[in-house]
Amino acid sequence: MTGPVGTVMAREGHTYRVAMDDREVQAVLRGKVKRSEAERKVVVGDRVHLDAPEEGGTWTIAAVEPRRNLLERRVPEGRGNRPVASNLDRIFVLTSAIDPEPVPQLVDRLLVLAEANEVLAAVIVNKIDLDPGAAIVARMRTAGYEVFAVSAETGQGLDLLLPELQGHVSLLTGPSGAGKSSLMNRIEPGLVLRTGAISEKVRRGKNTTVSAVMVPLAMGGFLVDTPGFSEVGLWGIEPRELASCFPEIRPLIDECKFADCRHLIEPACAVRAAVKSGTIQADRYDSYTVLLEELTSAPRDWE
Ligand code: GDP
Ligand code: ZN
Repeated sequence: MTGPVGTVMAREGHTYRVAMDDREVQAVLRGKVKRSEAERKVVVGDRVHLDAPEEGGTWTIAAVEPRRNLLERRVPEGRGNRPVASNLDRIFVLTSAIDPEPVPQLVDRLLVLAEANEVLAAVIVNKIDLDPGAAIVARMRTAGYEVFAVSAETGQGLDLLLPELQGHVSLLTGPSGAGKSSLMNRIEPGLVLRTGAISEKVRRGKNTTVSAVMVPLAMGGFLVDTPGFSEVGLWGIEPRELASCFPEIRPLIDECKFADCRHLIEPACAVRAAVKSGTIQADRYDSYTVLLEELTSAPRDWE
C-alpha cells in the first residue's frame, strides 16, 4: 500500500469525505474497490488508502483497511445489513437523569445493539444539575456498565468523560431531549453546528436515509453522530444471541440445565435463579424478556 491513509468522515452520494492528518479531501471509489464485494460498502470510520488525483482529477479510494468492528443496522433475512459506522472505540448511550424521566428499557435496547455488534458500551446520565439520577446510575453500574454522570449545563462530571473521548472514536446516541446536542457543544463549542452542516450535505446527496457523520475533536479523537439511530429496532439479532448481550447474564448462560435455555420457563435455569436471589436486577431481566419477545415475533413493519 503506497498512497496516503485517511479516515472516512461522511458519505455524500458517491463521494466520500476523507480526513488525512493535515486536511480533508473528497474521494470516489476506484473501480477495483467498487467491484470487490467485501469492500463495496465503504462506511464512515473506515481507514482507506488514497491515490492522489491526476491533473484535474479527483482523489480515489484504492483500498479499505480491515475493520476492527462494524456497527450495522441488521435487517431481516435476505435484505442485507445496513452498515452504519466502523472502527468504533465505544458507544455511549445517553439518558437524562430527569426531564424527561429516563426509560431504562430504551437504554438497555441501545446497549444490546452495541453488544450485538461487539462494540464496547458505556452510559452517560445527563442533567445531574437537576437530579442526581441515583436510581438509573445504580441500575446501570450494577448491570456492569461504566456510567458517567454529567451535566451539559454546568459541566459537572465532564472532567471524567472528556479523557475517555480524547483520542478515541466515540458514538453518542440516546433519545431526543436527553441533551445530546447540549453535551456535544459542551465537549466542544460549535460541534453541533459543524455536525449539522455535514449532515445537511449528506441529506442533499443521493441517499435519502441519513447516514452517520464523523467530526474530529479539537482535543483529538472523533465523535460519530447517527441521526435517528436511537429509534432503530433490533431486527436480525438471533434470539439465542440476546442473553449474551447482557453482561450480567452472559456468565450464567452455560450454567443452565439446557443448552438451548431461553431463560423463560425452563427448569433449572441459572438466569432465573439469579433474578430470584437478586443477583440480576428484575427489571434488567424484564428488558431481556421484552426484547426476546420482540425478536421472536418477526416484525413486518421493520422500516
Ligand atoms: P437532544 O435532543 O438530545 O439533542 O437534547 P438538547 O441538547 O436539545 O437538550 C434538550 C433540553 O434539555 C434543552 O432544553 C437543554 O437546554 C436541556 N438540557 C440539556 N442538557 C442539560 C443539562 O445538563 N442540564 C439541564 N438542566 N438541562 C439540560
Ligand atoms: Zn436459563
